[in-house]
Amino acid sequence: MNTTPQQYAIDDTGEKPPFKIGTKCTFFGVNPHAPDLCPTCGTSLQTVDEEAFWKRLQLFEEGVYEFDHFKGDGAKSPDPDWRPRTHPGYVEMWKWAKGTGRCFHHVAHIKNSYAKNAGKVVDLTL
Ligand SMILES: [Zn+2]
Repeated sequence: MNTTPQQYAIDDTGEKPPFKIGTKCTFFGVNPHAPDLCPTCGTSLQTVDEEAFWKRLQLFEEGVYEFDHFKGDGAKSPDPDWRPRTHPGYVEMWKWAKGTGRCFHHVAHIKNSYAKNAGKVVDLTL
């Protein structure tokens, strides 16, 4: 049966299945397989809020983001004393990555493949 991604995202209960991201790769979306591992590379997945996922990508594109690395005691690291850059095309690049039907080991690998195959260069420099 041929289904659209939107149709696929809704199960029989009318609730959206959990949105997953790769812990060691760039997979994102609904995982139709069990066990709960990336369908491409077999590494582990975690459940995240889909809206927050897209918002985070959008904010990175806009150069509005926090450095949410936490110290061992739970304290937040200080923000940098420099202004983050904008990253035009960042969200579109991730959408392109999804369309490839595969995952990547790192966003830099998406960037390189995107440049090679789509001819678009996204500057990931912070
Ligand atoms: Zn993967």
